[in-house]
Amino acid sequence: MLQYNTASRVEMTSYGEVLHRFADRHTVTIAAGTTCAYLGDERNLREFMVADEMARVLRRAGHIVSFLLIDDSLDPLNIRQLRVAVNKDQTLIDKFAPWCGKPISQIPDPYNCHESFAEHFEEELLKRLHRLGANPTLVSTSKLYERGRYAPFVRIVLEQHDEILAFLSQKFPTYNPDKLFWPLCPRCRFLDGTRVTGTHNDCVQFSCDRCNSTEEIPFDEVEGKLNWKLDCAVRWVLLGVDIEPFSKSYLEPTAGSFFVAQAIAQRFFDWGERTVTPFQYGAVGMERQWSMKLLDALPSDMLRSMMVNRPATDFQISRDQIVSLASRHTVETDLNYLDFVRQILPMWLLTPENLSARQRDLVAHGVAFADSFLDSPTRLHLPTRNEIEGERPEVLRGVHAILARTIALRTEEGKDTREEFEPLIQDAMKVLGSLKGPCLHRLRTVVGQQQGLPAARFLFSLPLGYLRTVEFLLELTLQQAHPTFSQPQSPARRAA
Ligand SMILES: [Zn+2]
Ligand SMILES: [Zn+2]
Repeated sequence: MLQYNTASRVEMTSYGEVLHRFADRHTVTIAAGTTCAYLGDERNLREFMVADEMARVLRRAGHIVSFLLIDDSLDPLNIRQLRVAVNKDQTLIDKFAPWCGKPISQIPDPYNCHESFAEHFEEELLKRLHRLGANPTLVSTSKLYERGRYAPFVRIVLEQHDEILAFLSQKFPTYNPDKLFWPLCPRCRFLDGTRVTGTHNDCVQFSCDRCNSTEEIPFDEVEGKLNWKLDCAVRWVLLGVDIEPFSKSYLEPTAGSFFVAQAIAQRFFDWGERTVTPFQYGAVGMERQWSMKLLDALPSDMLRSMMVNRPATDFQISRDQIVSLASRHTVETDLNYLDFVRQILPMWLLTPENLSARQRDLVAHGVAFADSFLDSPTRLHLPTRNEIEGERPEVLRGVHAILARTIALRTEEGKDTREEFEPLIQDAMKVLGSLKGPCLHRLRTVVGQQQGLPAARFLFSLPLGYLRTVEFLLELTLQQAHPTFSQPQSPARRAA
């Protein structure tokens, strides 16, 4: 049997371990990093949702939790990010390509609604996360740099530049960073073409390929950003981060960001033996065709569960997997999402004005789901002639009676909760005796509910307008084929 030795690994992989780790702590700070150069697809959500789930679990246990979402907003924009950011809009690509190489916090918003490129995508990301029930506090690193919070660390890195490089090459031989610090050129404001050439009298000297200049600027005045792994160490120290989700590659011991940042923080940033607890989350793979489809097609709580359940497990998003999840995701009591989309949605579409806000939301997702993940489009099922013809008249009369009783219960008698409605309609079905089975079978065919939901359940859920239409069509058929059906109202009967 495989023994799982938790003592030999630093990373956590379950929410239970997190609870245990922080059991005696009042406050816990969780961090997750991102770049708001563009809005990624659903795969990126895993890291943030896992962080938020940790926050929920800890809060539920009584801890005070901060969940910080840290945007590397001083990072320079590159052309690949720009293309994704503007949805391959060629006009915008042409307009913003000259800005590539500048920090995203210093580039205008391509859509003209925010202060900067970074702020636009920060808000888009926060909106997306709010929808999924996560409300992190956004930390924009460019603002921390602007406010001088990084300055002491930048000074350490510049003063001990060569020692840090020597330390890294000794401790992480396979990690050879090209640059430890990227100065922001004061002439052209580009960040991607600068290179530190030396330090002298508390000044840093650097060159800029973009404008072919050389500069010498005092440590405390130089603008620019640290190498990402060093930056990660600074934010832990500055923000007091306790735990952060990382994917497997970040936790690779010979050069992974986690271990490099930890070593730098402890050795150069006076962090002693402190450490951040890494939480390893599994990778999400996805065929390209599903990119950006899940956000529209899945109810928020379903997408959230998909991302946060079994957080360390890798998974691949495919049509089969999504449809199978939908068949297990409950949207209402006894109603899973797949059955809802196939059976209830078409009816709800008939009477949108009667739907609650939550139901409308479900309808919007359901329509997108049917469109993206189901072979057949959702459509309203009205009984066709051959679904009725050939059936014994007493069975059709039984079906009609169930429909009429349903409509009466839900309108005249106002039984508008499931608890009130279901036992009464079940009583009405019992009255049919041995005809109950054939009647329910025919009823299911007539309203297109051959599978899944119990009859009392769908009779409660189907819109009244739809049930009235079906009742009316059934009545017409019965009158044409079996004139005695409406006998109580017939002149002959009245005369008698
Ligand atoms: Zn904007
Ligand atoms: Zn320059």
